[in-house]
Amino acid sequence: MKYCMQCGSEYQDGVKECADCPGSALVDAETMRQRHIPLPSEGDTRKFVRAATAEDPLTAEDYVRLLESKNIPVFARPRRTGSVDVLTTGVLEPWWEIMVGEEFLERSVQLLSLEKAELDATADEAARAAEEEELATEATSPPPGGI
Ligand SMILES: [Zn+2]
Repeated sequence: MKYCMQCGSEYQDGVKECADCPGSALVDAETMRQRHIPLPSEGDTRKFVRAATAEDPLTAEDYVRLLESKNIPVFARPRRTGSVDVLTTGVLEPWWEIMVGEEFLERSVQLLSLEKAELDATADEAARAAEEEELATEATSPPPGGI
């Protein structure tokens, strides 16, 4: 038996491509297990829970990549805020849910909070650098011409 890595559908060994997911690779059960993708024959017992949210697709991608590198089953699910927000602010802000296998939740939350701190620090640094640059540009005194 072979399985689609995208949707998990089961196929005979001769089949080359999933009928529902053009271009997706069909792999054997062992590979599916290594990637923590539940097999249909084993029942979809894995529950995915929300480990974090991201306000932009780049952050979502970053989170997913990080967790994937730790072999944590993860996917990002795009969401939109409710219509109430649209009424009050007039803006429909997209956001992403980072969904992980239930048993990996604690570890994922930990990893993501570290990652978020790092991303925030990078953003702070960038802001500080920009500020310093501005100050330097505004400075009227000429650069020191030697000691
Ligand atoms: Zn498929």
